[in-house]
Amino acid sequence: MISAFSKVMLKATDLRLSKWLFTDLSAGRKLALRFVAGETLDEAVAVAKELNKRGMTVSMDHLGESVTDVGSARAARDDYLACLDEIAATGLDANVSVKLTQLGLALDRGIAIEAMRQIAGRAAEVGTTVTIDMEDSPYTDATLDIYELIQKEFGNVGVAVQAYLYRTSADISRIAPLGGHIRLCKGAYAEPDRIAMSRKEHVDANFATLTQQLMDQDDAKPAIASHDDRLIDLARKLVVDRAAPFEFQMLYGIREQLQDELVRQGHPLRIYVPYGSEWYPYLTRRLAERPANTLFFMRALFGK
Ligand SMILES: Cc1cc2nc3c(=O)[nH]c(=O)nc-3n(C[C@H](O)[C@H](O)[C@H](O)COP(=O)(O)OP(=O)(O)OC[C@H]3O[C@@H](n4cnc5c(N)ncnc54)[C@H](O)[C@@H]3O)c2cc1C
Repeated sequence: MISAFSKVMLKATDLRLSKWLFTDLSAGRKLALRFVAGETLDEAVAVAKELNKRGMTVSMDHLGESVTDVGSARAARDDYLACLDEIAATGLDANVSVKLTQLGLALDRGIAIEAMRQIAGRAAEVGTTVTIDMEDSPYTDATLDIYELIQKEFGNVGVAVQAYLYRTSADISRIAPLGGHIRLCKGAYAEPDRIAMSRKEHVDANFATLTQQLMDQDDAKPAIASHDDRLIDLARKLVVDRAAPFEFQMLYGIREQLQDELVRQGHPLRIYVPYGSEWYPYLTRRLAERPANTLFFMRALFGK
């Protein structure tokens, strides 16, 4: 969910100087390691194993987005296929999360669909699922359409939806009958006011309403993706009598004590584990969510 401060932050982190500060200096890389499991698949697998030991399932995210050539889109697809093979080989309790612009959506919808078919097919062989992340609003319709197509073919796919968009209640009504898991998050991109709520209290209220909407539908598999105490408490209350599937989801490196607490209480929890060298855009979204992260970086940069 993006405040005015965060919109400025996202713009600033788009600049070449900011990118250099974060990616070329050790302070930037140190901060990234708070939120990213490492640059290689082996490092991510090691992190995922530890999370499994702590009683959590995992969603592996090979970082990357907005690719501008077919070769990079195919490479991203192959990285995901390799990740799924590794999940099978190591017996991880994990699925994968993908971004369609990483698989070529901005270049050619057909390339992204074909890649999704291969990834969902391999995930089915391995006995796991795929979640499609929700990116910024130019891709919302295409993401839901591709989700619908692939979920109907393979039955092991889910998708994220964003509480800050006014359209999301209608989108949930449309996709819930498809039976895939639906990850409800607040939304992490800078969006125009005409389509998205910018005030935190409005986004939080809509998140609560959408949580109730998901829980009321027995065919939906809700994944409540938030670190917000009040929204987690609400979901904890709503799941007391729920027999149908449900899970909490959180990001690697954020609110780890709360993660352990949910597991101790017997709630299913999946941790989103990003890895790879393309971590800069992911890091900028984590910074924009929380001004304190930027202060932490500035202190590390200036040695204070
Ligand atoms: C599993 C998962 C998958 C996601 N997938 C998507 C997606 O597909 N598309 C999308 O647009 N967004 C996605 N997001 C991001 C989401 O939209 C929010 O931007 C992010 O989760 C912050 O919102 P919050 O619900 O944690 O609430 P907030 O009100 O932002 O935060 C609540 C509390 O959590 C802690 N916290 C939150 N963020 C940070 C941070 N960056 N650093 C340190 N502490 C923090 C703080 O203690 C804060 O007070 C995902 C989030 C999760 C958990």
